[in-house]
Amino acid sequence: MTLRGYPQHMRASFRLGRIVGVPVGVNWSVLVIFALIWWGLSANLFPRSYPGLSVIAYLVAGLAAAVVFFLGLLAHEVSHAIVAKRNGLEVGGITLWLFGGVAELRGEARSPGAELRIAGIGPLVSLVIGIFFGVIAMLLSLGGVRGLLLGAMAWLGGINLLLAIFNILPAAPLDGGRLLRAAVWKATGDRNRASVVAARAGWVLGVALIGVGLWRFLTGAGVGGLWLALIGWFLIGAASLEERQARMGSALRGIRVSDVMTPQPQTASSEMTVADFVDNYLFAYRHTALPLTEDGGRPIGLVTLDRVRGVPSDQRGSTTLEAVACRADDLVLASPDEQLTDLLPRLSQCADGRALVVSEDRLVGIISPSDISRAVQRGHLREQTAPNR
Ligand SMILES: [Zn+2]
Repeated sequence: MTLRGYPQHMRASFRLGRIVGVPVGVNWSVLVIFALIWWGLSANLFPRSYPGLSVIAYLVAGLAAAVVFFLGLLAHEVSHAIVAKRNGLEVGGITLWLFGGVAELRGEARSPGAELRIAGIGPLVSLVIGIFFGVIAMLLSLGGVRGLLLGAMAWLGGINLLLAIFNILPAAPLDGGRLLRAAVWKATGDRNRASVVAARAGWVLGVALIGVGLWRFLTGAGVGGLWLALIGWFLIGAASLEERQARMGSALRGIRVSDVMTPQPQTASSEMTVADFVDNYLFAYRHTALPLTEDGGRPIGLVTLDRVRGVPSDQRGSTTLEAVACRADDLVLASPDEQLTDLLPRLSQCADGRALVVSEDRLVGIISPSDISRAVQRGHLREQTAPNR
């Protein structure tokens, strides 16, 4: 699965390292699904299929199969990342979490063909992995090998095929939803309309999964039913977000960062204390964020009211703005000529959704969420008055 920017609860809790230059991380919630799979295999599937073995044997086989399954998930996401990079997109990272894996793409595929390649490779990789383990299981079976090894290979073959099939369901944010988007984009030439169609399909699939999941849970399928319903709920959330982004995208078509930014904002030095800021700036200054710059105007941080408010009043005299600022690494930088729609997915929590506009390494403006919502409102108005655009 690929997403453009994702919420905090999906971000990596710890890093595993880098693959093809892309940071790979794990969100703690992956432990839930890992434990469920391990438990399901070693306490249910394996003892039922191959009774009479030791508990240790079931646990080891279950653990090995679960680890290989997650390596397969990783291969799926890495393939998205490689093809995305080849097609000129930046990849923010790969995270394994509650519902499997996700590759974070920065920016948009440039053509329906690129979208098709980036989305299509993931399910293809899962399919190949599934066939690989399926063939091994078949050979083992033909060779007269029975037992846990055959069981693990057969399960890995089946689960990867299932993964490939589930992922090509034509509903955003699943890979199949991206393929649908590529097809509608190609047919209509309208990228945003294609996004809305794929997101609507995601919403429908989400509702269907919740319905089927709850029904199965109530008729005794247990955790599996609830799991389906949870996935459905996640799909609805992600699809709704993508539809909103697409509608915003069409309202903001053609609008550049420099059109909506506040030019030449007030700045401060990072050594200023919070007390100084509250006494001398806060009331004289009508904005709620203050960029910190170094000599020459290079931005090195951003202080927001929320961050200042978190400092107890008795510590304000001894706390510098640098200590409470959103750091340079977390700043979202934009260039004045950039399309506003390209900036939106990059906006981060750290700076409360703000971006600093930089030209030749110097701060030239700032964009706040209210600048963006004003631009969206104006854009919608423009669409209403010019319906043929
Ligand atoms: Zn995928």
